[in-house]
Parts: sequence; C-alpha cells; structure tokens
Amino acid sequence: MSSDCLFCRIVAGEVPADVVARSERALAFRDIDPRAALHVLVIPREHHADVAQLAAADPALLAELVELADTVAGTEASGQFRLVFNTGPTAGQSVFHVHGHVLGGQDLGWSPA
Ligand code: 5GP
Ligand code: ZN
Repeated sequence: MSSDCLFCRIVAGEVPADVVARSERALAFRDIDPRAALHVLVIPREHHADVAQLAAADPALLAELVELADTVAGTEASGQFRLVFNTGPTAGQSVFHVHGHVLGGQDLGWSPA
C-alpha cells in the first residue's frame, strides 16, 4: 500500500470506485472516464508499478488479472474484450499502479497512435 498511489487508495476504500468484480488478489472497477461501452480497470490489490514489473515479480497475479478481465467481459460484454496495459508515460500510462483497461461492449476501432 502506497498512500500517495490513487489505486492503492481505491483498494483501501479511501477513494470511492464503482467495483464490478473481485478476485482473491485483484479488483475490477469502472474507469471514471470511459472510452467504450465497457471500460473497466483490473488491478492487483498489491502495488506494482506496471505490467512488466508485475510479470517479473508475480506472473500468477498477472494471470489473475487476465482471468478477472475475462469474467467481467463475460458478464458485461458477451465475453469479447480488448485488454490494454499502457506501460510508461509515452505509451499513455498516467497511474503507476498496474492496471489493465478492459474494453468492449461495442465494435472497437484500432487506432493506437
Ligand atoms: P492510464 O492512462 O494510466 O493507462 O489509465 C489510467 C486510467 O485511470 C484512465 O483511463 C483514467 O480515466 C482512470 N482514472 C483516473 N483517476 C480515476 C479515479 O479516481 N477513479 C477511476 N475509477 N478511474 C480513474
Ligand atoms: Zn498502488
């Protein structure tokens, strides 16, 4: 837990979030600024800065994030989804507690740049 990390504060219940699913070590909640009909963030309860660091430290926890994304998409988007991990500021990462963007619920375009 890092008191200056927004997503650690959401995990701790100090910042409200619209939580849609939980697993043993992960949490899924709606993005505050949705970019698709379904836009949920999946995060580990434990603090890791980005997906590369999480994969190195705890690959099973990364797999748990993917499973939770699949569960959310199954509940809310017929099981089809895009899972995006922005990694580093140039790639668009603004919160440095790893999070996967679960996008779906509509036909998705493809224009990452
Ligand atoms: P990033 O830009 O790091 O890939 O994604 C961060 C995401 O967190 C953004 O999509 C942004 O809308 C979302 N976000 C930022 N602050 C909050 C917040 O306080 N609550 C929720 N639910 N989402 C947030
Ligand atoms: Zn954190």
